[in-house]
Amino acid sequence: MKGICILGSTGSIGVSTLDVVARHPDRYRVVALTAHNNLERLYEQCLRFEPRYAVLGDGEQRARLRRRLQAAGVRRTEVLCGAEALVEVAALPEVDAVMAAIVGAAGLLPTLAAARAGKTVLLANKEALVMAGQLFMAAVVEAGAVLLPVDSEHNAVFQCMPAGYRAGRPAPEVRRVLLTASGGPFLRLPLAELEHVTPEQAIAHPNWVMGRKISVDSATMMNKGLEVIEACLLFGMAPENVQVVVHRQSVIHSLVDYVDGTLLAQMGNPDMRVPIAHALAWPGRFESGVEPLDLFEVRQLDFEPPDLARFPCLRLAYEAVRSGGTLPAILNAANEVAVAHFLEGRIRFTAIPETVDHCMTAVATGPADTLEAVLEADRSARAAARAFLARR
Ligand code: NAD
Ligand code: MG
Repeated sequence: MKGICILGSTGSIGVSTLDVVARHPDRYRVVALTAHNNLERLYEQCLRFEPRYAVLGDGEQRARLRRRLQAAGVRRTEVLCGAEALVEVAALPEVDAVMAAIVGAAGLLPTLAAARAGKTVLLANKEALVMAGQLFMAAVVEAGAVLLPVDSEHNAVFQCMPAGYRAGRPAPEVRRVLLTASGGPFLRLPLAELEHVTPEQAIAHPNWVMGRKISVDSATMMNKGLEVIEACLLFGMAPENVQVVVHRQSVIHSLVDYVDGTLLAQMGNPDMRVPIAHALAWPGRFESGVEPLDLFEVRQLDFEPPDLARFPCLRLAYEAVRSGGTLPAILNAANEVAVAHFLEGRIRFTAIPETVDHCMTAVATGPADTLEAVLEADRSARAAARAFLARR
């Protein structure tokens, strides 16, 4: 029996993780659940899973959840709050596996804490890795943590890697990694209309149901950009050997190209419970609750190269990973600020890549070899993005 901590349990990935965990009560015991401000959902999760700890964003919510759990007769769960509590529960001795499913930079410190404590880290929070890749991968090696990718593309690549492969090590027999991309809701939209799209249109993803931020990232293809950086770090690949392939059906989740000309793909229905179950059961397999893929229904597989003029965010991400240092952290922070503004209806969709582009030139870069340097780059880029957007 393994103890699991789910960081971001009330989000899209968190809910899917609990769905899979609930199918395997003989394998996993829920030790800690965390949420930012979705008290209602966290309360329901506490009733059902009776975790040892539940974490919320602030003290007021903590008091409310405590009262409600007491009234419901749940005595087992201790309610904590704040960023330090996230770090604490991610490193508890009774926790074996940590699902890192907080969205954005807020997930960095607890995810890093899990790696430093030598946990099995199930990584969905790609922003944490993009920001502090070098530090994070070093922490994994030093502490002997096991890193299992949950992002569907990286999980697919991991599954197609040579037997016994561990994330972070280069595999000399692998020539390229091919990341598939659906192209999002605006793949065929006339370019001139891009600046008028609404948040509702941007989050209406054709094939996946996800959180709001990642849905906008899919529409700009920044999501794929972040995933290129993620792939370079997870699989020790040079950026030129990570290729993006637009594949509209979203049933091939990514591919590995071997030196002998073999191309291995991982396929399945587009449901995050597949990669989540893979990571939870690794190195074995167990049921995810997802139906098998019906190839006769899929009928056809299409592939095309990405259009970098339509999706400048993808080009910017390649630039960031090639330069390295703190530039990926700057790209990520500028994107988070711009996406939040767009979701609040304050800026146009096309201002997202403009903001990222601006910050990548305006903010000073340096080596990303200390946590301070990474956090400082994150802060400076957020300030630069806000100032840039305020002028518009
Ligand atoms: P979501 O918005 O649905 O959920 C985010 C979770 O993080 C929630 O539980 C929320 O309470 C918590 N959270 C948000 N801000 C926080 C803060 N400041 N402090 C502490 N907790 C905070 O997001 P999601 O779609 O589940 O995505 C989570 C992560 O997984 C993201 O990094 C995303 O890129 C990645 N991911 C998601 C999918 C998907 O299908 N949803 C696929 C691949 C990767
Ligand atoms: Mg993905």
